[in-house]
Amino acid sequence: MRILADLHRCEGLGMCEAMADRYFEVGDDGQVLLLDDHPREQDRQLVDSAVKSCPVSALRLEN
Ligand code: SF4
Repeated sequence: MRILADLHRCEGLGMCEAMADRYFEVGDDGQVLLLDDHPREQDRQLVDSAVKSCPVSALRLEN
């Protein structure tokens, strides 16, 4: 499982960080930073919810 972020879409709204700050952080440049793009299997549901929370669909989860 891997998280992919489209930085052209990200608007730094921070929903992902609010939901899973172990994996996502909004950097000083207003773009999402992936702290760990290979989440643990037991975090799948959390990461999936965070990915789906992005209002501009900048995040994707690849199996
Ligand atoms: S929720 Fe989407 S727009 Fe907001 S910081 Fe995360 S990736 Fe960027």
